[in-house]
Amino acid sequence: MLRVTRCLAGLVAAAVLAGPAALAAQDTDSTALLLAQLIRANSSNPPGHTQQIADILGPLFRARGFQVDIVPTPDSAKVHFFARLKGNGSKKPLLLAAHADVVGVEREKWSVDPFAGVIKDGAVYGRGAIDFKGGMAVFARAAMLLADRKVPLDRDVIFLAEADEEGAPMNTSWLARSHWDKMDAEFALNEGGWIITRDDGTVQYVSISTSDKRVMNLTLSAKGTSTHSSMPLPDNALVTIGRALAKLGSYETPLEFTPDSRRFFETLAKTNRGEAGRLYTELLRGTPAQVANADRMLSRDALIHSLMRNTIAPVIVAGGFRSNVIPGSAEATLNIRLIPGSDPAAFIRSLEQLFNDPLLTVKMAAPLAPPSPASADTSLLYRVLAAEAKAQWPEAEVTPYLFQAGTDAAAWRTRGIPVFGIYPYPISNDELRRMHGNDERVRVESLRQGTEMLFRTLKRVAGSDAPR
Ligand SMILES: [Zn+2]
Repeated sequence: MLRVTRCLAGLVAAAVLAGPAALAAQDTDSTALLLAQLIRANSSNPPGHTQQIADILGPLFRARGFQVDIVPTPDSAKVHFFARLKGNGSKKPLLLAAHADVVGVEREKWSVDPFAGVIKDGAVYGRGAIDFKGGMAVFARAAMLLADRKVPLDRDVIFLAEADEEGAPMNTSWLARSHWDKMDAEFALNEGGWIITRDDGTVQYVSISTSDKRVMNLTLSAKGTSTHSSMPLPDNALVTIGRALAKLGSYETPLEFTPDSRRFFETLAKTNRGEAGRLYTELLRGTPAQVANADRMLSRDALIHSLMRNTIAPVIVAGGFRSNVIPGSAEATLNIRLIPGSDPAAFIRSLEQLFNDPLLTVKMAAPLAPPSPASADTSLLYRVLAAEAKAQWPEAEVTPYLFQAGTDAAAWRTRGIPVFGIYPYPISNDELRRMHGNDERVRVESLRQGTEMLFRTLKRVAGSDAPR
């Protein structure tokens, strides 16, 4: 049994928005109820079982006339779920992509059961509340509303709940190789940018991602003499790895901006007050000393730090097997997130120069996926989404965004299909930090606003005779 707390602000906002496009409370509140249900289907990856998500969504979409299509993968509990609402076919489809798997939890650090779908104090708690079952619930409810309202459509609207985004290998790239016909579209929405609130609850900015950083894993390998631990030598492979990691600890990559990330930082300069606003302005237009200072100060925020440079995170160290043997080799894995346009080979060379160690080699752990082109903000989908976000939160600035992590948008972007990313609900910076963390949650009122905004976006982009 669920308890839903509707805060007073929600009721006021609903009343203010009671124009022709406003939705009845039960339509949008059911986004929170659907999210709670989706959270209860534990799809932590590994193993990332998504069949149970398909079991929840299937009847809801079928009942509304969507064509439901479930694509099995070699892992029987891992499926991709499609629901397609047919249009008149005069335009190419619009696709909504939401990954159905979530990352695991440190259960003891949560104040509630992360897989119970708890709704309390006006928020839905649980793993995936933000990333990305919340988005899945908003996408699904907005698409269902098109059917409920019998909106005539020029194009099919395709909802896709994907497997294996948080892992591999049966992700959308796998799906695209074998089932491209099901996911081909004119453009797509996915996870990505943010709707960030200030302390007073107003929305500071809406960022819509147009590109993702590129993921590269590197292996550092050290070779040394394998021998008895009673007679240590200077070439100990573990020490060599340790020396390299210590150098990384005090190394910083240079600032790098893309045209869209620069616009995002311009938005931060414009919408932040006081000290932060000044620092963002200096970051973009200051003297070299001001830029360096702004970088240092602003980089205290890990997200901001990651958006203006290539990042390096040591993630795995491996070496040694017993206490009386010095191992002959050791390895470390570095997870690198590259700014689009960065040259991976040049980046590796810069690390080799930093380590400057003949006992150490630096290699790519796996071949790099091809680069994805950025999606242009001139696309109809971007323009309408930006306009509807502005209509929903008039106080906010809307900006394109370089997403700091990788997503599964590459399956479309590498085929020339624009993908725009948004976590479609206002969240605070504190709530943002809970993504992949503890007590992940999203407010019921945020889900309501997001559903309303997205429904209007779909109606304008896919509906016949819609004002564009
Ligand atoms: Zn995600």
